[in-house]
Amino acid sequence: MARQFFVGGNFKMNGTIKSIQDIIRNLNDAKLDPKTEVVIAPPALYLLTAREALRQGIEVAAQNVFDKPNGAFTGEISAEQLKDSGVTWTLTGHSERRVILAEGDEFIARKTKAALDGGLGVILCVGETLEQREDNKTIEVVTRQLKAVAEQTKDWSKVVVAYEPVWAIGTGKVASTEQAQEVHAEIRKWLSSTISKEASENTRVIYGGSVSEKNCRDLAQQADIDGFLVGGASLKPAFVDIINAKA
Ligand code: PEP
Repeated sequence: MARQFFVGGNFKMNGTIKSIQDIIRNLNDAKLDPKTEVVIAPPALYLLTAREALRQGIEVAAQNVFDKPNGAFTGEISAEQLKDSGVTWTLTGHSERRVILAEGDEFIARKTKAALDGGLGVILCVGETLEQREDNKTIEVVTRQLKAVAEQTKDWSKVVVAYEPVWAIGTGKVASTEQAQEVHAEIRKWLSSTISKEASENTRVIYGGSVSEKNCRDLAQQADIDGFLVGGASLKPAFVDIINAKA
């Protein structure tokens, strides 16, 4: 079975009710490739508004989830609460949370498991810093991040892996098609040896890091690039061109 192309938009901590409604109106009115699965991740405060305003067929993701179902965890949101609100996906492991909020591999793995157990799909972000790439540690770092999740769950059917080199996020420095394809192929090899041949064949591995309407088509042609996680460009009308990169 061919892997369905997947494009996620990570709004990060950007937007207002008005600007998010404008983005949604643009998506609702656009001609989107029906073969592409589209998910947007607005800030938590706007998840419900987004779900209500979006047309059917475009899903909503949280940018974060907690690893417990309920209780005294001030400021956190559970998978159950997201599901209850019509949110069907969540990000985990974004480098901004790994670096700025000091989230470790094990915590991210627990959050991923809680989200999957709660019935959400997970966009699991992994990726190396520039220093780690220059030290030839890219594959070691990425597989370490993946392994932490594999220790918590063997069911990867609702996981989309987002390879996001930290040096390419928000910098305008996109990985070359060769650099991205090489890591994606390694991730697929790792899935085969650690999870299963089926997981390796079926799991979407998407690329994130300064994807734009200019570079998306070349990246989308690579054998192991199954879509994109888009930050900055997901706030702009050009997001539609990225969704249609394979059309
Ligand atoms: C991201 O935040 O996941 C991302 C890839 O950002 P950008 O597209 O802005 O580099």
